[in-house]
Amino acid sequence: MSSMTVGLPLTWRRIPERYNLIGSECEICHTKYFPVRRICPQCRRKGKMKEVKLSGKGKVYSYTRIYAPPSGFELDAPYMIAIIELEEGPRLTAQVEDCNARDVKIGTPVEMIFRKIQEDGKEGLIHYGFKFKTVSGTSHILQE
Ligand SMILES: [Zn+2]
Repeated sequence: MSSMTVGLPLTWRRIPERYNLIGSECEICHTKYFPVRRICPQCRRKGKMKEVKLSGKGKVYSYTRIYAPPSGFELDAPYMIAIIELEEGPRLTAQVEDCNARDVKIGTPVEMIFRKIQEDGKEGLIHYGFKFKTVSGTSHILQE
């Protein structure tokens, strides 16, 4: 894939990764990165990277509401894009789903979910990507 797309799209071939959010950890300075990196920018050649599973939990670092989405996202507009700071430290940009603007603030706890984000009609390719949802406690579970 040559083009960059918001939401870190993955093709169906990579769906088995959906239950694991995989990043990199530098074995020298223990900084964690997402997405996977081969070289630690701090340690450079001294660094040694290994894959680590990230929790998918984090908090909102900043956010913006999108009213004029790029091609392929029209049905979802408006939607919210946030920079999420993961528990382990890395930041990533992702859509925050199923929320009102008032539910999302800087510091709001969120967790990762996997969703179909785009369908390519011609080729029938379905792209999956990370989204996040707000963590709203356990009241909705108790009602079930
Ligand atoms: Zn390092």
